[in-house]
Amino acid sequence: MNRDGIGMTSQRTRARLVERLFEQGITDIRVLEVMRTTPRHLFVDEALAHRAYEDAALPIGFNQTLSQPYTVARMTELLLAGGRPANVLEIGTGSGYQTAVLAQLVGELCSVERIRALQERARLRLRELKIYNVALRHGDGFAGWPSRAPFDGILTTAAPRSVPEELVRQLRVGGRLVIPIGDDRSQRLTVVTRTEGGHEAREVEPARFVPLVSGTVR
Ligand code: SAH
Repeated sequence: MNRDGIGMTSQRTRARLVERLFEQGITDIRVLEVMRTTPRHLFVDEALAHRAYEDAALPIGFNQTLSQPYTVARMTELLLAGGRPANVLEIGTGSGYQTAVLAQLVGELCSVERIRALQERARLRLRELKIYNVALRHGDGFAGWPSRAPFDGILTTAAPRSVPEELVRQLRVGGRLVIPIGDDRSQRLTVVTRTEGGHEAREVEPARFVPLVSGTVR
């Protein structure tokens, strides 16, 4: 099937995906609506496009994966739980799908990716979808984006072993960091809230992400 063919059927399959997300406990209507309209099949290789609306993680090259829709929805919902953030940082642009979903729900979105080729592909897709409130940067997410800080929210789509202190520092007080934490055997999706004196962490549910790796790849 070519992309247009998928495009025609994808509206129906996305509606079914959103019903499943609701059954799985995603209740934020803003998130469900954006996932109903965002074409996930444009963020994977053409050969995988027919699988884009299964609730599965999909390979995007360079040993990286696009998170399953449930995970994208859950993380977005957790980030938005405090209101509509004006200024958000994402670590791990990857395919740009999570970026596209988030961008439609926040004011300004900054997104950092360590693998240049993934970042460039994501840039083209976001442009194709006419999403313009995103700034992309090739860099090491462990460093955040200091010149654009403080952020109302930070979302990380790869897992470090422990809470990255630098990211917490770039949150405004009351801002939240949604992040998987752990190693390749056990991870927990965690919400870290910046407080006056430091931060508070709340574990939400088990997770499975690629590791957050320091350094960059050209
Ligand atoms: N949100 C992405 C998921 C991609 S997987 C999507 O929707 O497709 C995680 C991504 O994090 C990968 O692209 C990986 O290269 C990136 N990553 C890992 N460590 C990183 C780091 N230190 N800084 C920036 N990006 C990183």
